[in-house]
Amino acid sequence: MAGFLARTALATPFFLVCISLLLAKDEMTSSLLIGNARIDIRIESGTLRIPTKDIVCWVKSAAESVTAYYGHFPIPQVLIRITPFKGNGVHSGMTFGDQRARILIRVGNETSPAEFAIDWMLTHEMVHLAFPSVDEKHHWIEEGLATYVEPIARIRAGNLKAEQMWFDLVRDMPQGLPQAGDRGLDHTHTWGRTYWGGALFCLLADVEIRRQTNNEKGLEHALRGILDAGGDIRKEWNLEDALRIGDRTVGANVLEPLYTRMKDNPVNVDLGSLWTQLGVQSDGAGVRFDDNATLAAVRRCHHHKRICAAAGSRFFQASRSICWPGRGPP
Ligand SMILES: [Zn+2]
Repeated sequence: MAGFLARTALATPFFLVCISLLLAKDEMTSSLLIGNARIDIRIESGTLRIPTKDIVCWVKSAAESVTAYYGHFPIPQVLIRITPFKGNGVHSGMTFGDQRARILIRVGNETSPAEFAIDWMLTHEMVHLAFPSVDEKHHWIEEGLATYVEPIARIRAGNLKAEQMWFDLVRDMPQGLPQAGDRGLDHTHTWGRTYWGGALFCLLADVEIRRQTNNEKGLEHALRGILDAGGDIRKEWNLEDALRIGDRTVGANVLEPLYTRMKDNPVNVDLGSLWTQLGVQSDGAGVRFDDNATLAAVRRCHHHKRICAAAGSRFFQASRSICWPGRGPP
């Protein structure tokens, strides 16, 4: 069976196949192939009143999202261990790179397809696979990347609307700004600075790379360069080495100087001005886009891959998800 799967994967650039094996009394394992990567899904013992196809569709959708962003699934093999709980929704994801790469995640035993369709957590966890493990004091870059990349990846795969991402960013990004007593990203390990401070670093880097390269490159290209150099979660790297490779990949000097500026200092950012330049207007209930804004083209590059793909990099068309009919493209 493994040989068949491998050949099938090689024969088509984006092909998915699923096998399900009943391993133990209550333990079900399914496998997906996304390109050349294999994703094993194991449901721990417990009652999960959900059809296996719904679980597989949810995993496939998240895997397609990160594949759309990075050009391929970040690592050759990962195990997803699902622990059921009584109730609905997806909770408590954790990703590990040591020994065998794996994602632990809890799923409510009555979660509906509609609830799976709005889940962001599994995509967030899969983004963690695509960056090397760094020192604990830099945890903000790991969570910041996952926080920032997750919605963009889902937009690219047709699993989220761009309006929703910008609405959420405008609402949530202020939590990443330095508060009183802040000593910079490497020394301020609060929840806000770890998740949203890290996301703010990523947004600033993305905008600056796009500005310096006339929208030819963005943060995604820097991240692909790091991944292509072997920097995935299974490796322990110095953060500076990863950032240097990212800068070199896009031919711009952005990530290293931004890190130098933000690591030991509480750098304030005028978010209102940034949203205006990007042409994002939020009234608290929804967003409108201003295509005449200075950086409107930069904003559009976040979700319109086709017009912004760098020369030489192949446009990746994620296959349409057939799992949840009715969810249209962004
Ligand atoms: Zn995380």
